[in-house]
Amino acid sequence: MAAPPSHRDSTARTAADTPAVDASQGLDQIPVTGLKRVGPKLAERLRKLGIQTVAALLFHLPARYQDRSRLRALTELRDGDEALVEGVVADAQIAHGRRRSLKVWLRDDAGGGLMLRFFHFSRAQMEGMGIGKRLRCFGEVRQGPQALEMVHPEVQYRVDDAPGAVGNGAAVDAPLTPIYPSTEGMQQITWRGLTDQALALLAAHPQALADLVPAAIAEPLGLPALHQAIQTVHRPPADAPVQALVERSHPACLRLAFDEMLAHQLALRRLRAERRHLAAAALPGDGDLRRRLLETLPFALTDAQRRVVDEIQRDLAGTQPMMRLLQGDVGSGKTVVAALAAVQVVECGRQVALMAPTELLAEQHRKSLSGWLEPLGLTVAWLSGRHKGAERAAVLAGIAAGESRVIVGTHALFQQDVAFAALGLVIIDEQHRFGVHQRMALREKGSDDGRLPHQLIMTATPIPRSLAMAVYADLDLSVIDALPPGRTPVTTVAVPDSRRDEVIARVQRACAAGRQAYWVCTLVEESEALQAQAAEDAAADLRERLQGLRIGLVHGRVKAGEREPVMAAFAAGELDLLVATTVIEVGVDVPNASLMIIENPERLGLAQLHQLRGRVGRGEVASFCLLLYHAPLTAAARERLDILRRETSGFAIADADLRMRGAGEVLGTRQAGTAAFRLADPLRDKDLVRAAQQGADRLLADDAPGGGERVTALIHRWLGHREDYGHV
Ligand code: ADP
Ligand code: MG
Repeated sequence: MAAPPSHRDSTARTAADTPAVDASQGLDQIPVTGLKRVGPKLAERLRKLGIQTVAALLFHLPARYQDRSRLRALTELRDGDEALVEGVVADAQIAHGRRRSLKVWLRDDAGGGLMLRFFHFSRAQMEGMGIGKRLRCFGEVRQGPQALEMVHPEVQYRVDDAPGAVGNGAAVDAPLTPIYPSTEGMQQITWRGLTDQALALLAAHPQALADLVPAAIAEPLGLPALHQAIQTVHRPPADAPVQALVERSHPACLRLAFDEMLAHQLALRRLRAERRHLAAAALPGDGDLRRRLLETLPFALTDAQRRVVDEIQRDLAGTQPMMRLLQGDVGSGKTVVAALAAVQVVECGRQVALMAPTELLAEQHRKSLSGWLEPLGLTVAWLSGRHKGAERAAVLAGIAAGESRVIVGTHALFQQDVAFAALGLVIIDEQHRFGVHQRMALREKGSDDGRLPHQLIMTATPIPRSLAMAVYADLDLSVIDALPPGRTPVTTVAVPDSRRDEVIARVQRACAAGRQAYWVCTLVEESEALQAQAAEDAAADLRERLQGLRIGLVHGRVKAGEREPVMAAFAAGELDLLVATTVIEVGVDVPNASLMIIENPERLGLAQLHQLRGRVGRGEVASFCLLLYHAPLTAAARERLDILRRETSGFAIADADLRMRGAGEVLGTRQAGTAAFRLADPLRDKDLVRAAQQGADRLLADDAPGGGERVTALIHRWLGHREDYGHV
């Protein structure tokens, strides 16, 4: 591998790089095509990201920075770090495993070690990394099978042996290198080239980027001016405090975070205000089906369930579309609440669509709902992505004719050819897995008569109320804050993987006693192939060692059509042990499963661990969750596992999670792939949230200067690229 490309050349701003455009009209009037090296192809890529003007480019902010400002000792490296390191090659070998690779063992003066691994390498590179050579590398640290490793790091070969000196005359990188959110086929170097030009224009014409936040609101915050903040965040000066920038607590970051939160507040409030002008059918129902359903349920509703059922019932009876977020911990009984809402709508002759993010989960909902509704004479229709041809046509006909009243499905329900006769209510489970776009698309489905369906969004991601109000200011909130009675809390134990044999023996005993167990394999790798491989390996090993047991395997590479029979067999008690990746995270309900093993739990976040653990403890027997960790644990990982052992409530765990990680991840934006915020973090910047809420109050007051236009421009600036806000 050659020396890393220096960014110096591309980031140096020369007069030749300042585009010759007239900036006096405002940077939001200058199309990106006015910049150098932006041809039709690049312009199209940018357009897809919602970037059509120079101003929009300036608001395309770095997602993070690479810190190449200091060398890290190998001993202080942790799984997941991105680091600049230096050391001497102690060993180098070609390994012939599943794939041929070059393994280079690096040691540093402090006695630390690191494995470098290359799958592609030339003879020259191999020679450059011979024993005794001093190397400087930059890359991401991963836990490998034997040691921490960097796979394909950027390597700088050094000619001299003086620690700290730079070899080969290669330029040292800027202390903080911005890394931009990108899209396929766009390199970071392109982003840096584009933003260089935009920043040069801004530097020459600071007034060409309107500061839309009135001084009366911005000034008391004591934060830098907008154009300064933009310059700093894109190109941190060499003397800027690295930590503050990385943690986004630098005043420049806070200024932009404030503007962003303000724009969000305004957009959400507009959505909410708009709702007042939208019409929905009032669906009070006559209470007949509801009463019969309550009578046939094998349990009584909890107080918490009753309260949220009342809230929903009232909304449905109103003439404005309900937009309600139903929050409840795993196992808190949201499905029956959904069923009660559904029958109320059916009582009024309208249809209900219930959507789940996966086939598996949709299938479970169909089962629960069928079990409850069929005795009342209601059939539950089912539309999955797997329905094709005549079968699909028949389901669609039933929906279009209004014969199907309750329809359960996956995103297949969004498709163009699905027409509802009279959609009254949309229920969406596990909202964070659904893009807001899809929510909007579904809402359109009911708008034929100008009236929108009501919407109920269910989530098990517990968000503290104050945060939820800021982030979902457009939604009303219902919370199920207590679990049904009679649940035995899951006992959680952390066990090092050196005691794997004991754990396997425990699985044996539990299954011999007629219980069922989950064995969950985790991998931090994005690669589904590697995830799947880990599960395959674990299953093979367990099959060998637990020969009397019936063992099933599900992972992301197993097609949905083949996964479901396995899940069904497990649910029916025909399998003793289910080996799985985190695909089983959501929704699976098998009360007889009372033991869960999670391999390498240190790789997962708290919320995900809590969701996984929620698969056990659903029956009457005492349940156990064994966290089979790999020592040594980092301090953070140890704390996470401790929290999980101590706490059983999703809300307590979410609080702890927030303290440890910040809001973005807790809200599940990671999974959704669309971060709710570019750089704001409503939990970390609590004071800014409050300031943004007050700012929004002032801007929306009737006599606010610039009024509606300013608000629209702010929303457009920060959220304009998102179609879900496109209509505001
Ligand atoms: P979640 O909120 O995670 O979706 P579910 O709706 O799947 O939870 O409910 C979990 C289990 O609890 C289901 O088997 C459900 O039938 C049962 N359940 C729901 N409400 C009650 C209740 N009030 N009392 C006892 N069991 C209940
Ligand atoms: Mg559920």
